[in-house]
Amino acid sequence: MTGNYIGIDLGTANTIVCTKHDGIIIREPSYVTYDPRTNRVLAVGNEAKNMYGKTPPNISAMRPLREGVIADFGLTSEMLKIFIRKAVGNSILISRPNLVICIPYGVTDVERKAVQEAALEAGAKSVALIEEPVAAAIGAGLPIHEARGCMVVDIGGGTTEVAVISLGGIARSVSLRVAGDKCTEAISNFIRKKFNVMIGDSTAEDIKIAIGSAHPSTDFGVAEVRGRNILSGLPAAMNIYSSDIREALEEPLNSIVDVIKTTLESTPPELCSDIYDNGIVLTGGGALLCGLDTLIAEKTHLKVFVSQNPHDCVANGIIKVMRSKDKDILIEKIRRD
Ligand code: ADP
Ligand code: MG
Repeated sequence: MTGNYIGIDLGTANTIVCTKHDGIIIREPSYVTYDPRTNRVLAVGNEAKNMYGKTPPNISAMRPLREGVIADFGLTSEMLKIFIRKAVGNSILISRPNLVICIPYGVTDVERKAVQEAALEAGAKSVALIEEPVAAAIGAGLPIHEARGCMVVDIGGGTTEVAVISLGGIARSVSLRVAGDKCTEAISNFIRKKFNVMIGDSTAEDIKIAIGSAHPSTDFGVAEVRGRNILSGLPAAMNIYSSDIREALEEPLNSIVDVIKTTLESTPPELCSDIYDNGIVLTGGGALLCGLDTLIAEKTHLKVFVSQNPHDCVANGIIKVMRSKDKDILIEKIRRD
């Protein structure tokens, strides 16, 4: 591969922009704020996330990729353009880089084309897509080109992608719309039901990260949580325990375990035997939930590992591909001269 290469992990929760030479350049939340009357984008990334839930009526805030699919194409493409400019400046764009973009596996053909169009519009010379589970597996250092099956489970914000990879391709893959966001939502719902207190999305996510636990062997005690009492309408504070979070997360985590099991059930026996030997690798921000590896290991009777820097695994995979001559695992490369 020659020329300027820019890689983008367009995640439902976070977007990472990287280059062949410099590695990861920016890592920001996939959020936008815009004027709903004109659809003009006002801010993206951290700036937009900080406004989320606090915007006045004349400003709307959204996550354009919320459920693992592109909820709003126009805003996604604007966000993409702003991130690219922010990461590499206008000068690289003038020299027309080649883009390698990783998008959630569950998106439709129409959405894939739409992302490519957006990237071309942003100034790219060519756009190649890479399938998320393949990028995650490469980033995690799995030997994907060997005739040995490996299983990678990427738990992002909107989707969990379970994939069995062998000989550089995806032998089995299932995409589930239950991942980090659903865990966060389950925490809000639990607190509302148990304490009659409403909390915001970012508070729920902070609790998950601070004392979240998927297995009794990881317990972080107690944290104080603030929100609004539904009955009195007044601000309220209460203590919440790691064990409460475990209870709250039971349903979404069971769905994730179930999808891993059903994927294994439909995997050819030879590949199953490889997975038995090598175990399962967890990637994505959701893999940072403490005790999740232990829970999955207990339920599947397999070895489970969390990759190094699970957040960056997909981006690291894209970087490795851009640095190698591994063109065969890129899909749907389009070019405009
Ligand atoms: P995506 O690829 O969809 O953009 P990421 O791989 O960036 O998603 O992961 C984002 C998810 O990881 C969010 O739901 C976030 O709450 C969750 N997450 C991040 N850090 C932690 C942590 N320490 N514990 C549990 N969940 C975490
Ligand atoms: Mg991801």
